[in-house]
Amino acid sequence: MTAPTITRTLPSYIADRWVTPDPAADGAKITEITDASTGEVTAHAVSGSAAATGFSTTDAIAHARTVGQRSLSQLTTHERALILKNLALYLNERRDSLYELSFATGTTSRDNLIDIDGGIGTLFAFSSKGRREMPNANVIPDGPVEVLSKDGSFVARHVWTAITGVAAQINAFNFPVWGMLEKFAPAFIAGVPSIVKPATQTSPVAVECVRLMAESGLLPAGSLQIIAGAGRDLIDHLDERDHLAFTGSADTARHLRSSDAVQVDGLRFSAEADSLNAAILAPDATPDTPEFDAYIRVLFGEISAKAGQKCTAVRRAIVPAARVNAVVEELSAKLDDKVVVGDPRTKGTTMGPLVSKDQQRDVAAAVQSLVDAGATIRLGGGPVGEEAGAFFAPTVLTVDDPRTPAVHDTEAFGPVVTVLGYDDTAADKGISEAVELANLGRGSLVASLVTHDMDTAATVAKGIAAMHGRLHLVDRDDAKTSTGHGSPLPVLVHGGPGRAGGGEELGGVRGVHPFMQRTAVQGSPDHLTAVTGEWVRGAATRTVTRADIEAGTGVHPFRKSLAELRIGDQLVSEPREVTLEEIQVFADSTGDTFYAHTDEAAATANPFFPRRVAHGYLLVSWAAGLFVEPAPGPVLANYGLENLRFITPATYGDTIRVTLTAKRITPRVTDDYGEVCWDTLLTNQNDEIVATYDVLTLVEKENTTYANWGAE
Ligand code: NAP
Repeated sequence: MTAPTITRTLPSYIADRWVTPDPAADGAKITEITDASTGEVTAHAVSGSAAATGFSTTDAIAHARTVGQRSLSQLTTHERALILKNLALYLNERRDSLYELSFATGTTSRDNLIDIDGGIGTLFAFSSKGRREMPNANVIPDGPVEVLSKDGSFVARHVWTAITGVAAQINAFNFPVWGMLEKFAPAFIAGVPSIVKPATQTSPVAVECVRLMAESGLLPAGSLQIIAGAGRDLIDHLDERDHLAFTGSADTARHLRSSDAVQVDGLRFSAEADSLNAAILAPDATPDTPEFDAYIRVLFGEISAKAGQKCTAVRRAIVPAARVNAVVEELSAKLDDKVVVGDPRTKGTTMGPLVSKDQQRDVAAAVQSLVDAGATIRLGGGPVGEEAGAFFAPTVLTVDDPRTPAVHDTEAFGPVVTVLGYDDTAADKGISEAVELANLGRGSLVASLVTHDMDTAATVAKGIAAMHGRLHLVDRDDAKTSTGHGSPLPVLVHGGPGRAGGGEELGGVRGVHPFMQRTAVQGSPDHLTAVTGEWVRGAATRTVTRADIEAGTGVHPFRKSLAELRIGDQLVSEPREVTLEEIQVFADSTGDTFYAHTDEAAATANPFFPRRVAHGYLLVSWAAGLFVEPAPGPVLANYGLENLRFITPATYGDTIRVTLTAKRITPRVTDDYGEVCWDTLLTNQNDEIVATYDVLTLVEKENTTYANWGAE
């Protein structure tokens, strides 16, 4: 089916088809979407009755819970992660239509890099993280096995599994692409279908992005739906099966949080709300230092990017009182010199308008309330340019009393910053006051601290970290390489406590967890092996010894391709005696002549050793020799080991033996091989554990490379 191109009435994508609303239907409510620069109406969004929108929200949710859940659960984590990569590649080739629509929302080309390229980049990042850091399964173990009985017959492990409902999103207007994809990607990896309600004003961009994704043919049925212009009733139909991720103002967050769905029905709810982010200039960053320039660059970037309409933008510049004027003057001069406010489609424009006339009115009202509370406008302060557009001048305010409540509470969601002074003549140079002022924001997404003094960095970080989701520390060494104050990154947690909503998004695999439930599973080692797909010590094995292999009654696990290998396949080696001569040879050849291996008296005096002992690395090397199958075969490489612990020392006269068991098998979706993790246990003649670790190998899916090796 061909999707309609976006015309003046915005379609929604529901149950895998495009639905065009009927603005003439009974109960239709029409919202005009305007070009931010010209005020021209570019599209209509229709909300109201099902007859008007062409669908019912309950049907959309039911489709996600049934068709979406089913199609996603038929894929593994890595398969879904790979689809994300292909979606990203598809969108990357077709960004122009997104840019085009985005300009009408007031964004410049540079802003589009943040939203559109940033959104696509987030898909790439989650694809890569999902395949590298998560098992290729739908039950994801979390943490180690806990042994709950003395004999090891009752054990437990935590596991993550996908929630059984919908990942609903209600998004803010400022990042129609990034805001959608940064939530869609982790939900998709978790295996949970998404329903997106974008902010109406910029929904044409989000709808176009979904149009491209649907057109790609890559989306599993029911995995993504978008409700344009309507959907305010979404939360009324969600319950304990679902997750709602909200991004927007603190007021709307409060309203949603107080709904029955959250309060009564147990809907999982996370909010990314507004925040009064701070940037602190430390006392050491005097105007003659590179740090001072870096600070001005931070403020400049945060005011001008997206015309300040970023949840992470700096609203409060906290500087030594004696430097307030220097900061205001330097920043104002730079803004005057470099910022050209205008239609982003006009050459030379460096800052676009706000998203709408409504937004322009809101920001003007917020500036007015700051002025009413005692702030002074030092630059800008209100609308500029063509009357029809939503242009707003870069605005710098100062305030005499840095504790003025409005400054720490009123978010002017535009190109507005207030500069506050702290008392740097105090005994601690005002650091405690700077910390106090930063925390008056009552919880923020991010704070920058510009300092080249590491004691200041440590003190301020300790003082403000608990009130912030991210800290951005800048000095001469990282100013040029920093990714910026305002950029949430897919690998780092985004979100902040308190006023910022208390939510956490992104952060690599952490971002996937909100769409999954963590469950503690208790049972026997066999139960846990069956549930988690990872072999647990004590569970059943298929054991072979060297004698079995030589007699032809057993196959060495290293001779099995992934097609043949099963978790629990195990090799028990022959014993090997530890001799003093070999300890000495190892010490001499490696240079590791630590006394525990070379000096009998000193070793015996050590509380951990009976006398001279073998090097741990000698034992690990011997273990490799004891378990290896040397002939070319399906095992292609050993790429490391994990979780190595030396437990009981081995002295000369002891014998060691290794038991190697296939613990986890992860076929790679893009390659002809996969990863096999081998549980490795070194024991001595008394069955005490000498060492334990996981050996990591790459093994062919089929025995191809060396199948006929040496046959001729
Ligand atoms: P908003 O007015 O709260 O709207 C956000 C979303 O909520 C929109 O999709 C809106 O739909 C919807 N909405 C509003 N009232 C609703 C209701 N009663 N029931 C259900 N949905 C409702 O915020 P905004 O003006 O779009 O965004 C600006 C704010 O978002 C700023 O305060 C900014 O700080 C914050 N923000 C935070 C983050 C973050 O990550 N923490 C990121 C971006 C923005 P309609 O558009 O259809 O009204």
